[in-house]
Amino acid sequence: MENYPQTLAELKRRFATEHACAQYLCQLRWPGGFVCPRCRGTRAWTTKRGLSTCTACEYQLSVKAGTIFERSRLPLTMWFRAIWWVTSQKKGASAKGLQRILGLGSYETAWTWLHKLRRAMVQAGRDRLAGTIEVDETYMGGEKRTDRGHGAQAKALVLIAAQTDGKRIGRIRLRRVADASARSLQPAITEAVEPGSVLRTDGWEGYVGLDKGGYVHEITRERADVGENLLPCCDRVASGLKRWLLDAHQRAVSHEHLDYYLDEYTFRFNHRTTRSGGKLFYRLIQQAVTAEPVPYSALVKHARGPKTKKRPIWR
Ligand SMILES: [Zn+2]
Repeated sequence: MENYPQTLAELKRRFATEHACAQYLCQLRWPGGFVCPRCRGTRAWTTKRGLSTCTACEYQLSVKAGTIFERSRLPLTMWFRAIWWVTSQKKGASAKGLQRILGLGSYETAWTWLHKLRRAMVQAGRDRLAGTIEVDETYMGGEKRTDRGHGAQAKALVLIAAQTDGKRIGRIRLRRVADASARSLQPAITEAVEPGSVLRTDGWEGYVGLDKGGYVHEITRERADVGENLLPCCDRVASGLKRWLLDAHQRAVSHEHLDYYLDEYTFRFNHRTTRSGGKLFYRLIQQAVTAEPVPYSALVKHARGPKTKKRPIWR
């Protein structure tokens, strides 16, 4: 069941304590209920510090372990406030803005938080697009695609996959690729689109052979005349993305961090029709607690229960 605050006032009221935040995270992280990794017990209580404690064997598990909240010294109440603010910014969130809202002493903390949240914006193991998908690549920071082959090293190449029915765009996926060769493009397409889907591309050689990968491949004409859009949906996504990067981030996006911004844009685009800010807040927190599979080491590190060396925690 989707349960989220509707307003900022409600957020502040409901999530005024660490305990309330931790309990909310537990509900989202273990929607089927708590299962103790040691004894498989299904009953637990939450300590003030946010540790879920198995009532049977007293094994303690941090709801933050293995999530973006892990190792954060600042309280969850502040994280919740940050997530509310980030999801309510239509254009995107800046580190400066976040620093101001939270009253953080350090710009670096705000910047780090934003990047952690961006990582959570694209869910691990998310489903692939299906149906009719337009696929194209676009250079970030470049002109038109005069240089699909060589001489484009300074620019970043981004693959766009846009679900479409007619002129309307459904969901998108964005992925940075090394170059426009088949070897770079086609694995990225496989990752983004379900086999059996219809792929619409132009006649670029990097797309040749997609039909052998289980797709129905439709090729629009080889070349576009000036001013003509062969792949209108991809075109709109590409120009929207570029505008957003320039407007919201003042060209401050480095190559190194481009992937995070692509994730944020994808999240915002795919939820663009979500009217309720609370719902977006809920989605992002939900993704934040499931963003990373919990590695064994992280669980063990956070275990404070009465364990001995002889007994393996996992069986
Ligand atoms: Zn237990």
